Amino acid sequence: MICKDFQHWLLARDEFTDKITPAAQEHLESCENCKALYNIDLGLEKSIQAAFFQEELPKGLFDQIELTLDHAKTPILYAKQKIAGIVAGFALIIAMVFMVFFNPPFRYQNLQQLSEKAVASHLKGNTAMSFTGDQIEQALSMLSKELKFNVILPDLTDKGYVLLGGRLCVLGECRTAYLFYQNQDKVSSVFILDYDHLDFEMADGSRFENDIKGCHTDIWKEKGQVYAMVY
Ligand SMILES: [Zn+2]
Repeated sequence: MICKDFQHWLLARDEFTDKITPAAQEHLESCENCKALYNIDLGLEKSIQAAFFQEELPKGLFDQIELTLDHAKTPILYAKQKIAGIVAGFALIIAMVFMVFFNPPFRYQNLQQLSEKAVASHLKGNTAMSFTGDQIEQALSMLSKELKFNVILPDLTDKGYVLLGGRLCVLGECRTAYLFYQNQDKVSSVFILDYDHLDFEMADGSRFENDIKGCHTDIWKEKGQVYAMVY
């Protein structure tokens, strides 16, 4: 396998069903570049899964699953009850998967709502990164794959911003790219989301600015994607 084939495999791979092939594994062990790409992809997948499970699933569902599992674990006199427990467990897992993957896409009703979500996420201060600034070229192709739109970096370098790195996150209920930029001693958050996540028209080049909880938010649309910056 050569790099091109490996990268083709990686981009086409369904992380939930496709295990690494022996040929891909062999290439991975001999190619640092592809290994870095693969690790970025794994990191992004982990960050989005963690975000979904922490923020998006209703709390009650977790309790229910735990109860069901506990119930299934306790010694049961009647096989019927045991089967009922297992069936209920499976039903909950299916419901969970359905909620995560087949939910109709969430859409923002206005930019105030988006700026509030962006500030709340920024103020959490979680700067975990799946890739660093110098891996951005590789990360962009992986981000585009995970988010299903062609992620383009905002043009901030001439304003003195240095890209530190980023990960995937869930903003409101939208999957977004989350980038960290440093300017002097301040770290800014930049969220990139697909225009599809807005439930209203927004012209390319238009801007919305706002101050919330001591943070400044700057939201703009460019090249068909929406950028929300908080600093
Ligand atoms: Zn390679």
